[in-house]
Amino acid sequence: MTAAVARATTSVAARSRAHGPTAALWHAVEVHRHPSEVDGACELTLCGSLARVDVEQSWPVAERDVCVTCVVLSS
Ligand SMILES: [Zn+2]
Repeated sequence: MTAAVARATTSVAARSRAHGPTAALWHAVEVHRHPSEVDGACELTLCGSLARVDVEQSWPVAERDVCVTCVVLSS
């Protein structure tokens, strides 16, 4: 057995909620499961907040309200 197993890591887009002064943003969530299993689930984003996964939206998102931290961390 080799340790060089390809890591099937995919990033999906997730929408956070507007929280006080913080607007709702698109974040990236790293999924290690099949995207259909995390659809609609609240997952931890790359930047450490919680957002609801929207598998219909692929990452990176072509929107303006995107979390900059997630963009940097996923690139
Ligand atoms: Zn983020």
